[in-house]
Amino acid sequence: MSCTEQFETRGLVIREVRTSEADKLLTLLTPERGKVTVSGKGVASLKSRHMASCQLFSYSSFILKKTKKYFYIAESETIECFFGIRYDIERLALATYICEVVDYLALEEVADDDLLRLTLNTLYALSEKKDADLSLLKAAFEIRAASVSGFTPDLNACGVCGTVSLRHGTYLDVMNGRLLCPDCSKEYVSGLKETDEGISPIFIKITPSSLEAMRYAVSAPIKRYLSFSIPGEEKEAFAYSCEKYLLHISNTVSNRLNITETL
Ligand SMILES: [Zn+2]
Repeated sequence: MSCTEQFETRGLVIREVRTSEADKLLTLLTPERGKVTVSGKGVASLKSRHMASCQLFSYSSFILKKTKKYFYIAESETIECFFGIRYDIERLALATYICEVVDYLALEEVADDDLLRLTLNTLYALSEKKDADLSLLKAAFEIRAASVSGFTPDLNACGVCGTVSLRHGTYLDVMNGRLLCPDCSKEYVSGLKETDEGISPIFIKITPSSLEAMRYAVSAPIKRYLSFSIPGEEKEAFAYSCEKYLLHISNTVSNRLNITETL
């Protein structure tokens, strides 16, 4: 008796590895099972009916069947292929980076509808919004991706004394995901010492506008999370804070993975 496992799902192709002229190994991000590795035998062939649905950045519905090791594609239908990304080198590079981040943060066999919806909305903006500010989009995605992965920074009050009066001179304490008000930051930011693990703490000075933008990007409804602007001179500081925060989270995730692997 055959006991082939089968499941129907929607999935975004976040990674593709060409294994031969016509074959690919795909990583899909699905709402029910997080990351799923799929053998795309023949899907890179021009004759394949799965070619469009199995390209990087394509969002499609699939019927997947499992053989020994991998799922393979029994049926597929393209829902959205984010056409606008594919003909602009800057947008293509950013979409590739976004999918790499998602591949890093997503887990196998763990449902992650929020991360999928975030990625789809971001790719949609990248594909369709011709006037999108790409550095703001990248930064907002970085902080929101860290947040939906369970690492939301506390941006409401000083993480030490609790004051909500966050004037100029407030710092983002990246390693603890919290803010330090101008008073408390004096104690922490000056005379920096390395922790026991030999890691230098990361404190980033944050302006009121970039704090406002971070709060918005983290908490706005996903469909509107990119609908904000920030004064030009503060954009760079905002982008820097978000990038550093995600980088720190990625290191934390990677340590967590190493620990799991050792156990
Ligand atoms: Zn304080």
